[in-house]
Amino acid sequence: MLLSGIRGQDAAIAILRNALARDRLAHAYLFIGPAGIGKKQTALALAHAVQCQESPPDGCGACGSCVQVTAGTHPDLRVVGPEAGKQSIAIDQVRDLQRVLSLRPVQGKKKIAILEEAHLLTPQAQSALLKMVEEPSGDALLVLLTLNSASLSRPLLSRCQQVRFAPLPTPVIEEILVRTQDKDPALARTLALYSRGSMGRALVLDPEVFTEERRYVEEELQKLDAASFVDLSRVAEWLVADRVRKSAKNAETASERSNGSDRLAIVLSWYEEVLRYAVLGTEGVVRHQECLGAIAKLATRLGVDGALRQLSVVYATIQALGRNANRQLAVEDMLLQLK
Ligand SMILES: [Zn+2]
Repeated sequence: MLLSGIRGQDAAIAILRNALARDRLAHAYLFIGPAGIGKKQTALALAHAVQCQESPPDGCGACGSCVQVTAGTHPDLRVVGPEAGKQSIAIDQVRDLQRVLSLRPVQGKKKIAILEEAHLLTPQAQSALLKMVEEPSGDALLVLLTLNSASLSRPLLSRCQQVRFAPLPTPVIEEILVRTQDKDPALARTLALYSRGSMGRALVLDPEVFTEERRYVEEELQKLDAASFVDLSRVAEWLVADRVRKSAKNAETASERSNGSDRLAIVLSWYEEVLRYAVLGTEGVVRHQECLGAIAKLATRLGVDGALRQLSVVYATIQALGRNANRQLAVEDMLLQLK
């Protein structure tokens, strides 16, 4: 895909286009944003733009170089990520990149390396990478992709040009699903609404499983006030269990594999809608329309402040799970606070 084909990331694309047009690309970019929103696609589109032999600055998509970039066989492009089954990127992989980037381009204008999931770099690997970024060779271009900047060292961050990627707007995801995945428009709308702005997520959601899970969460949340501790414990156990993904083939990157927070995302979505109802009224409810009555009742009782409090409880729990907290306990505690 070319830069002109990337949807929903206008700000990021404008930064790159501007640099390409002035022939002032940085030596190292850091693309920051959630999974599945087009960071890698954009990095590859940038590779097209740089290596194309026919029509710079955007690339043509059809010349020999463009075809090689698309096929992953361009001799001056290397894409590196965590090895299968590994949760970190080790120093050896960075050294490998270093070797590649220190050579002169074989046929393209630059040597390009794309490093996926840079948040998984070990501290040693980050130090090695920093050396490389500090002494760039003239025709090297490094693009790091990361979910967040928090796990990267300050010196490394300051040496890369940071480009932020935003979650995709719902209509963009809906449109892409219909156009490229042949999805029925109503289904595309549902998937888009629950994708949380991530195309990657929209692609791995199984609509049947998801609808079933949404209904279960909706029912349980409506009964929350009357729930006993045994009930809460049962719901918590279900919420932290990893769901079975029927279409997991698109979720092979570490950051997209389910960590049990998918079901919690439905709880989050519920309280988001309560808040939206408190602010906007009926119009605010788009994901849980079948439960409009219950949402309205809860929103009236909690008010904006109360809804915000409930939301922050769920957010905090999802973050705690990311830090490997005791999952069952964390979610039980969340349900007790929501009650
Ligand atoms: Zn081309």
